[in-house]
Formats: sequence, C-alpha cells, structure tokens
Amino acid sequence: MNSLVHTRADGQRVVRLDPQKRVLFLTKDLGAIRRQLSGELDLRMEEVEPRELLDDINTDVMTPAWVCFRHKPEDIALDAYAGLMDEAGKRVFGTRALLDGGFQVIVSGQRKGTGSSRETAPQAEKWCGIELVIAASFAPIHERNNVNLGQLMGDYGQLVRLQRGEEIPLAEFTERYDPVTRAILEAGGLFPFSAEVRAGRTRVPLPATPARPMTMAEKILAAHLVGAEPVVGAGPGRAFLAPGDCALVKVDAGYSHEFTTAQVHHFLAQEYGADYRLNDPRKFAVFEDHLLYADGVAKMAPFAPLIETLRRLQREFQAHTGVRDYSARDGISPGICHQVAREQFLDPGDFVQATDSHTCMGGGNNALAWGVGATEYAGLVHAGFTFVRVPESIRFELAGKLRPGVTAKDVILEILRTFAKEEQTLDRVMEFGGPGLATLDMDERATLTNMATECSAKTGLCEGDAATAAWIAARRPGSGAQAIAARFVAPDPGAHYDGGVHRLDLSQIEPMVAKPSDPTNGATVAELGEVKIDIAYAGSCTAGKERDLDFYAQVVGEALEAGRRVRAGVRMLIQFGSEAVRDYARARGYLELFQRAGVEVIEPGCGACIGCGPGVSERPEQVTVSAINRNFTGRSGPGKLYLASPLTVAASAIEGKIVAYRPGMFRARPVPVKA
Ligand code: SF4
Repeated sequence: MNSLVHTRADGQRVVRLDPQKRVLFLTKDLGAIRRQLSGELDLRMEEVEPRELLDDINTDVMTPAWVCFRHKPEDIALDAYAGLMDEAGKRVFGTRALLDGGFQVIVSGQRKGTGSSRETAPQAEKWCGIELVIAASFAPIHERNNVNLGQLMGDYGQLVRLQRGEEIPLAEFTERYDPVTRAILEAGGLFPFSAEVRAGRTRVPLPATPARPMTMAEKILAAHLVGAEPVVGAGPGRAFLAPGDCALVKVDAGYSHEFTTAQVHHFLAQEYGADYRLNDPRKFAVFEDHLLYADGVAKMAPFAPLIETLRRLQREFQAHTGVRDYSARDGISPGICHQVAREQFLDPGDFVQATDSHTCMGGGNNALAWGVGATEYAGLVHAGFTFVRVPESIRFELAGKLRPGVTAKDVILEILRTFAKEEQTLDRVMEFGGPGLATLDMDERATLTNMATECSAKTGLCEGDAATAAWIAARRPGSGAQAIAARFVAPDPGAHYDGGVHRLDLSQIEPMVAKPSDPTNGATVAELGEVKIDIAYAGSCTAGKERDLDFYAQVVGEALEAGRRVRAGVRMLIQFGSEAVRDYARARGYLELFQRAGVEVIEPGCGACIGCGPGVSERPEQVTVSAINRNFTGRSGPGKLYLASPLTVAASAIEGKIVAYRPGMFRARPVPVKA
C-alpha cells in the first residue's frame, strides 16, 4: 500500500506527507522545474498560482514512445518525463532526474494525462516514488490507469492542508468514486484488490438496478455479470444495469501485441509467480503486427535490441500460456490485431478487452470492445473477468445514403469536429444504428467504431443486421448466419441515452480532412485551400480493410485509364490490414494496378500512429495525407499530417495536393504526368 497512508490507533486510515520527501510542481516556468529537480528550490502550494502550472501534459511527454520499448516499470522510470522539452529542444528532465529527486507528490494543471492511453506514463511516476498526483483535472483513461496502479489523486486544497502538516482521512481522496473504484484505490491498486476478492475479504455485490430499458452496451454488460444468470433477453433472471453501476463482468475475448505483451507477462509473473496459468486462454491472442516495420524508420534504429526483447518475451508468453498465436511467419505478419480479431473471433454480443485503444473497432461486429492498460489486461486475462463501471451512451441514428466520393471516414471526421470537439462523446459508448447504417458495409462500420477512441469515447458499437451475420459467417467455417444473428444485441425501445439521440443524414456529409495536429481539427476539403503533399499513406487498422482497398483501386484504376500515375515527387504507400485483405486485393488484380500507378505496396502490419512503421514522415517540412486515425504532433514523424478518407488519400496522391475524389475526375482533366 501507498506509504502516504497510515492507520491511526482508532482504525481510521489517513494520508500524511513524509517530511523527508518532496513535492514537485510542474510549472510553465521550465527553469523552476529544473531548479526543483536539482534541489535548489522547494515550493509550497500556497505560493503557486494554479494558472502557473502546466496544463495538458500528455502521456507522450511523460513517456515518449522510445521509453515504451522497455517493459519493466523500474526501467521506464529512469526516463520519466523525457518528452518535456524546452524551447531549444533540450530535455527538462534528464535520465534519473525524477527518480533521484526524492519526490512523493507531483502537481500540474488541467487535464493531466491527455493523449494516448499508455499506462507507462503513470507507471513512470509510480516507480519514481510518486504516491500522490495533484491536478486540476485528469484525462479519463489516465485517471483509470492511476486507479489501477493505486496512485491517489487529489486537489490543490488538499495539498495546501497536507503541506501544513495536516492528516487527511483517506476517504476524502476516494469518496468521489464509485464503490469498486474506491475499493481498488484503498487496497492500493488492481492486483491487491483482486487478491482481496479472491480471498473473499472483499465482495463486489451485484448492482440492484431495477428493470429498465437498456442501451446495447448496458445489455451486453448485464449479460456478462459475474454471479447473475447469463441471459440476454427478457427472460427470468435477466439483470439490469444503468450508467455508473459497478460490477464484475466476464470477458469473452482479448488480445495484446508485441508493444504491450511483455509487460503483461512481467506483471503476471510478478503477481502470481513464474508458473502462473490463465483461466481460459482459448479466446485470447497475441499479435506480431506493430513493430515489424520499425527497422524502416531511421529514428528507431537504436531501439532494435529492445524491440527484439519485446518480441522474444511475447513468444515466451504465448508458449507459456497457450493463447492464440498470430506471430509473424518469415517476417510477415498475419495482420493488424484489430482487423484479424474482427475477421476471426469477435462475435456479436461479446465483451472484448485488449491492450490498444483501437480495440473499439470490434464494435462493428456488434461486440462491446475497448482498450485497457497492461495492468488491467494482466488481471483479466488471468481471471477471465474484470471490473467495469457502466458507461453512459450517445446514439447516432444514421439516415440517408453517402454520396459518391464520400465514405465512413468522412462521417467520423465530421463527428469529430462537432460532437467530439464539444466533448459530447467523452467517455461514452457511441451507439450507431438507424436505416443509414444498413447502407454502409461492414468495413465502413468498422471505420466508424475504430475512431471512437479519437472521439475520446469509451467505444463505438453498431447494431447487427443481415450484413453483419453474412460477413461474419463467411469468415467462420461452421458458423451459419442464423446462429450469428441469434447473438445480436439491440437496444431496448425507450433506452435512455445520456448523450442524447442524434440524427445524422449521411447524404449531407462532405469529403473531410482533419488538419494537423488533432483529429478534431476538421474541415471540408473544399474549405482547405491548396495543400501540396509529399506522402500519401493508405493503410492502418482504420483503412487497411477490403473496402478500403476497393476505394484505392477505384481511384488508381480511373487515374491509369486517364493516363495518370502517382504524381512525381509524391510517395504513395498502401498497406494491407491482414493477409485476408491482401489475398482479396490480389484476387481482384489490384496489386498489378497499384504497381502500374507507382504505388508502393506493403505486407500486412502497421505502426503508423506510433511512429514505428510505413507512412511516417522523416522531416518537419514534409506533408502527409493519411487514411490513419490520429495526427497528434510527432506521433507519425516530424512532418504535418492531414487525416482523410481512402478516396481522398488516393486522389491526392495522383494530383500531388489534397483533393476530394469525384468519379471521373481524371477523365475530365487528363494531364499526363511523367513517370
Ligand atoms: S493505426 Fe496502426 S499503430 Fe495505430 S493503433 Fe492502428 S494498427 Fe496500431
């Protein structure tokens, strides 16, 4: 347990600062941070204005991607805050600076822990001795990661009192949370809490929510409650849930990849001993898909030995546990985890957890799926169940039909610049339904749910229909469409949506882009003005599906017919989401088309949004138009990154500047370009 916490003679648990330890204030004045780190300066909350504290410290700043190649938290801690740079581009925190500073508390401003969901960020603080994190507000996933690690979080007023020598009841730090979160924090994190549950010292009671109409997410979670009848429908024993309810739920499937598995293996061995066993490994999997192309990124060369260690530990984990093995064969990945999982083992009604924020892509299969950190994943893959707080939902009722040249990517970019920008999707399940959904094929639906994470939503979830059943049945030998359809979960009539129900007319959506450096920076292509490009990347979990390949082939084929190729000076890359997608493209003759047009075609895999794969820029002046999902500064190289649809990416590669695709556009203006 946290050494800040003491049990008094009367049994009350209180929080008290250790007088030998220090408090670090992350101030906008970076010089003041340096003086604190070197021991020249100690501050008190009473003498610091909250507006002088750094806001929006993102997880890349706390642990940049290169630090995440280490899998042991004590090694990660060596370079805590390595991403915080001064104006001259120099690190504010040197190696071991936070570790050796003797700090117990760290203080910052608004929205601590924005950006990616990486758990290494709070791990770095914890293993540097930080036991209390003070901020004006926290990003939701980061807050959850802190909870799982047993890191207490507090406010400025509490710090003032602690620095005056006051003891504060532990309950003051935990009472704003639901009962399960409170219990996890008070136990000192997820692993100690799970041990309490296993030993029978802590019980998670079934929620007592009375009968009510439920959203899709509520129904799926209710059907997975540990200790309740496993019933979906209105029969006897049906359980009910409402947003905010906390419960233990069974997990049907999950996966990790080589960037994350080593930590899972390490945590399990530490917690349960080297001979630990999983409860049921059959629906869990490991993938070798994210770092296969890192050696093609010059900046990644020094990390090759660490990457090899991650691969080795993933192989060791797979052999030790017997989870499904999607390792690369002869250097070729079977595909991106999110794509292969939806093709091969995510079923309607499943509850799925995996160690990557785009796990939400599984929602296209009518499965409830979201990403979790390594600690949470280690706990659930071991036990087969996890703890959830039922999220709120927001429903998008799709109507009409997309016009030619417009895709699901444009729809989600429109949602990002409106609903997400206004935080209406924040931490909610984005439920997609309505007659417009039926006009989108399964791959397009997966694009919508894939980018729920960019909407800062909990996940995305599509209603099932005949197309869902047929698509899954075609990929699962022995599964009939009828049996699959029988698993569909639909919302109850009258279900309540805290985020409201919003009608979206697909026919009104325009070709969109998201300008650098945030996916919510949306604009229509028409509003953009002229943007010349150097790189066009067509791939990733968002845009490496069969339908995306159809889009690329449609544009490239039309360009070839008009005597056009990829514009001189532009590099266009197409990367398949899986082997099945590659085989699909090959069978339709797309590979030959791409080759004739001057497109570089790459085997399945990714790494684009973590700076570890094809499509990553190498110089600040480079401009990329990309079909991937996120464009945060520096995440895909130093250049400027515009997000766009597969059609826009391909048309832009031909024109050499960002343009929307219109059928027949090249025939209308045949300008031959020299090869
Ligand atoms: S875009 Fe690529 S690197 Fe990013 S989550 Fe998807 S598969 Fe992983």
